[in-house]
Amino acid sequence: MPCYDFRCRSCGATFELSRPMAQANDPAVCPEGHQDTVKLLSTVAVTGAAGAAPQPASGGGCCGGGCCG
Ligand SMILES: [Zn+2]
Repeated sequence: MPCYDFRCRSCGATFELSRPMAQANDPAVCPEGHQDTVKLLSTVAVTGAAGAAPQPASGGGCCGGGCCG
Protein backbone atom coordinates (compact mmCIF):
# COMPACT_ATOMS: atom_id res chain seq x y z
CA MET A 1 0.00 0.00 0.00
CA PRO A 2 1.54 3.34 -1.02
CA CYS A 3 2.45 5.98 1.50
CA TYR A 4 1.36 9.57 1.13
CA ASP A 5 2.78 12.60 2.87
CA PHE A 6 0.49 15.25 4.20
CA ARG A 7 1.08 18.59 5.82
CA CYS A 8 -1.21 20.23 8.30
CA ARG A 9 -1.82 23.89 7.63
CA SER A 10 -3.12 24.43 11.13
CA CYS A 11 -0.04 23.37 13.07
CA GLY A 12 2.49 22.80 10.27
CA ALA A 13 3.05 19.16 11.12
CA THR A 14 3.87 16.70 8.38
CA PHE A 15 2.73 13.14 8.60
CA GLU A 16 2.54 10.03 6.50
CA LEU A 17 -0.38 7.80 5.79
CA SER A 18 -0.62 4.46 4.11
CA ARG A 19 -3.79 4.17 2.11
CA PRO A 20 -5.04 2.65 -1.12
CA MET A 21 -4.42 4.68 -4.26
CA ALA A 22 -8.16 5.02 -4.66
CA GLN A 23 -8.20 7.08 -1.49
CA ALA A 24 -5.05 9.06 -2.26
CA ASN A 25 -6.92 12.33 -2.57
CA ASP A 26 -9.25 11.81 0.32
CA PRO A 27 -8.98 14.34 3.13
CA ALA A 28 -6.51 13.39 5.82
CA VAL A 29 -6.71 14.36 9.44
CA CYS A 30 -3.62 15.64 11.22
CA PRO A 31 -2.39 13.57 14.18
CA GLU A 32 -3.32 16.59 16.28
CA GLY A 33 -6.87 16.41 15.00
CA HIS A 34 -6.79 19.26 12.50
CA GLN A 35 -8.56 18.77 9.20
CA ASP A 36 -6.89 21.55 7.21
CA THR A 37 -4.29 19.36 5.53
CA VAL A 38 -2.72 19.22 2.10
CA LYS A 39 -1.24 16.23 0.33
CA LEU A 40 2.42 16.57 -0.56
CA LEU A 41 4.12 15.09 -3.55
CA SER A 42 5.46 11.67 -2.80
CA THR A 43 9.20 11.27 -2.54
CA VAL A 44 9.00 8.79 -5.38
CA ALA A 45 7.76 11.49 -7.72
CA VAL A 46 10.40 13.98 -6.58
CA THR A 47 13.39 11.74 -7.17
CA GLY A 48 13.18 11.18 -10.88
CA ALA A 49 15.59 9.60 -13.29
CA ALA A 50 17.92 12.58 -12.94
CA GLY A 51 18.80 11.57 -9.41
CA ALA A 52 19.23 7.89 -10.08
CA ALA A 53 22.51 6.54 -8.84
CA PRO A 54 24.52 4.45 -11.27
CA GLN A 55 24.19 0.79 -10.55
CA PRO A 56 27.26 -1.45 -10.57
CA ALA A 57 27.49 -3.64 -13.59
CA SER A 58 26.27 -7.14 -13.09
CA GLY A 59 29.41 -9.20 -13.02
CA GLY A 60 28.26 -12.43 -11.48
CA GLY A 61 28.42 -11.48 -7.83
CA CYS A 62 31.64 -11.50 -5.85
CA CYS A 63 33.91 -12.61 -8.65
CA GLY A 64 32.70 -9.81 -10.90
CA GLY A 65 35.17 -7.39 -9.34
CA GLY A 66 38.08 -9.78 -9.45
CA CYS A 67 38.14 -10.33 -5.69
CA CYS A 68 38.30 -14.10 -6.18
CA GLY A 69 40.84 -14.19 -8.82
ZN1 LIG B 1 -2.34 19.87 12.81
